[in-house]
Amino acid sequence: MIGIFGGTFDPVHTGHVRVALDIRQDLALDEVRLIPCNVSPHRCAPLASGAQRLAMLQAAIQDEAGLRVDDRELRRAAPSYTVDTLLSLRAELGDIPLCLMMGMDSFQALNTWHRWRDIMTLAHIVVMTRPGWLPPTQGEVAMLVEQHGVYDPTLLRGTSAGHVFLRPVSQLDISASRVRACIREGKSARYWVPDGAWGMIEKEGIYR
Ligand code: ATP
Repeated sequence: MIGIFGGTFDPVHTGHVRVALDIRQDLALDEVRLIPCNVSPHRCAPLASGAQRLAMLQAAIQDEAGLRVDDRELRRAAPSYTVDTLLSLRAELGDIPLCLMMGMDSFQALNTWHRWRDIMTLAHIVVMTRPGWLPPTQGEVAMLVEQHGVYDPTLLRGTSAGHVFLRPVSQLDISASRVRACIREGKSARYWVPDGAWGMIEKEGIYR
């Protein structure tokens, strides 16, 4: 069983890598793939280039066996939808259970994602708690939890997709926007960002 963790990673921060490790250990995942997205330039473009975001991510997790960077979205010419990424992973990996990991903030907006119901046919969804965000109590996403939520993580191994699992993880009140704002103000964001990535940010003057 493997975890799929997509994001802008502009930049990767300690919140991302710590919760990735939490879930890998808790669910005994063979690996977690961190997949930086390819954002369309006219929609809230990341400040760092795709190549920089990828390199920071690689530098951040290089020593951690079981965390792996997958650059398939950046290799595509156009921005890709999560559903397409999952289809391409399925074609490669066959029938194994896939766990699409996301923070509570992303999960709250899941019903706005392209073909969001199809995502459930391709992967389980593992939702990670995040400071400041509570599980949805009404609307389509709350219904999804009601209908597909499981409390026993061993059930995730029994089928390749279709369950929703909410998991408490390390509560780290760190976000990429906070990191960027801190650097913009001329302060240090060291220790919010894993060392390897922080070294790159300093050396290349990213986010100044
Ligand atoms: P920004 O502040 O720019 O919105 P971000 O910190 O949310 O960025 P993203 O790359 O957008 O980072 O997030 C990728 C995924 O990681 C999302 O599913 C998000 O919910 C999750 N995530 C980010 N930070 C945390 C955290 N501290 N704890 C749990 N999940 C997190």
